[in-house]
Amino acid sequence: MVAVKSVLIVGGGIGGMSSAIRLREKGITVDIVDSDPEWRVYGAGITITGPTLRAFHTLGILDDVLAKGSGSKGGSRIFTPSGQSIGEIDEPALGSNIPPSGGIMRPVLHRILSSRTLALGTKVRLGLTVDALEENNGVDVKFSDGSAGHYDLVIGADGIFSRVRSLLFPDAPKPKFTGQGCWRIVADRPAHVDRPELYLGGDVKVGLNPCSATQMYLFALDAPRGNPWIEPKDWPQVLKLRLAGFGGTAGLVRDAITETSSIVYRPLEAMLLPPPWHKGHVILIGDAAHATTPHLASGAGIAVEDAVILADLLAQTGISIPAAFEAFMARRWERCRMVVENSLRLGEMEQNHESPADHQRLAEETVKALAQPI
Ligand SMILES: Cc1cc2nc3c(=O)[nH]c(=O)nc-3n(C[C@H](O)[C@H](O)[C@H](O)COP(=O)(O)OP(=O)(O)OC[C@H]3O[C@@H](n4cnc5c(N)ncnc54)[C@H](O)[C@@H]3O)c2cc1C
Repeated sequence: MVAVKSVLIVGGGIGGMSSAIRLREKGITVDIVDSDPEWRVYGAGITITGPTLRAFHTLGILDDVLAKGSGSKGGSRIFTPSGQSIGEIDEPALGSNIPPSGGIMRPVLHRILSSRTLALGTKVRLGLTVDALEENNGVDVKFSDGSAGHYDLVIGADGIFSRVRSLLFPDAPKPKFTGQGCWRIVADRPAHVDRPELYLGGDVKVGLNPCSATQMYLFALDAPRGNPWIEPKDWPQVLKLRLAGFGGTAGLVRDAITETSSIVYRPLEAMLLPPPWHKGHVILIGDAAHATTPHLASGAGIAVEDAVILADLLAQTGISIPAAFEAFMARRWERCRMVVENSLRLGEMEQNHESPADHQRLAEETVKALAQPI
């Protein structure tokens, strides 16, 4: 007998939709609520590492992701800021049909996940959240539109500023600004860009990655003192300044920036919730439990892994919900802690101008650890 028949997922992002897909495939009834009335996602690219591609494979969406996104032809090429080639990072593929890494536009990934979520019969309600969660042989839920429901369990997948986390753990650490900001711009993909490129050693760290047959995105990490507010209308001009002096493909992207370029700027914030991430019949996954910076490009990947592992545990015959939650923590804590803490350390090394060799060593060690089976 499976202990779980009905699940409410709060938050229909990457982690929430992945949970819905896996749980529906196990025959469990799933409702999603998302506070965004239009269920949107902003228009930037996202890097998908080997482990993330492996998780998409397990979730059954890898072919679609590669068809609509892009799989790399090898490891990342490394350049100095002026565009001089200084090597390549070896990124082995984690399966015969899985490229070493990839990229996709976030709205395209959202469409892949949301179509599958809906096709599997998940009920999705938009423009609302949860106001109260009360243990009652399962969970009694009060929604913000005045409606109510009862579920065997609730998954909080509502992102870095999680409301479920604040209902469950009011004293949980709050997300903190890490000292860096992330610029992202979508650009036409030149024919020579068939894998990620990284430009290391300057005050601003830059990388770019193909995210479809015709598009790529560039990111730039800077360290804005005092976390100033930057007006979106100024983004093209400020990004141009941040990219001053860059050569290679990064320089080409800078020279093509116009007032209408698709640019997103976001100060980086992070939060790691100490274990356990559950109380009663409610559990947190994804950024709600472990919001990281993009230094290892793994935040989305570990959210998908959380979703797959939790659903698989809950669907085990004879397992109780508390036992599934405990097994989940045992499988997830160390891996997610490593991603958040090592990402923060890499950001710190960049801000302190520490040795690039030490930076590369820590990044490579972590990538190697993440390649292990989960
Ligand atoms: C600048 C930047 C770059 C990044 N780049 C990468 C990358 O290249 N590769 C990578 O793997 N990861 C990357 N990440 C991390 C990645 O974006 C996140 O880890 C991932 O989106 C987490 O998924 P999630 O489902 O937990 O949360 P989210 O994607 O944030 O989804 C949360 C969902 O919950 C909804 N929601 C929010 N509040 C409520 C509420 N109160 N009630 C109901 N619904 C609510 C939201 O509308 C949203 O749909 C990056 C992060 C940043 C900040």
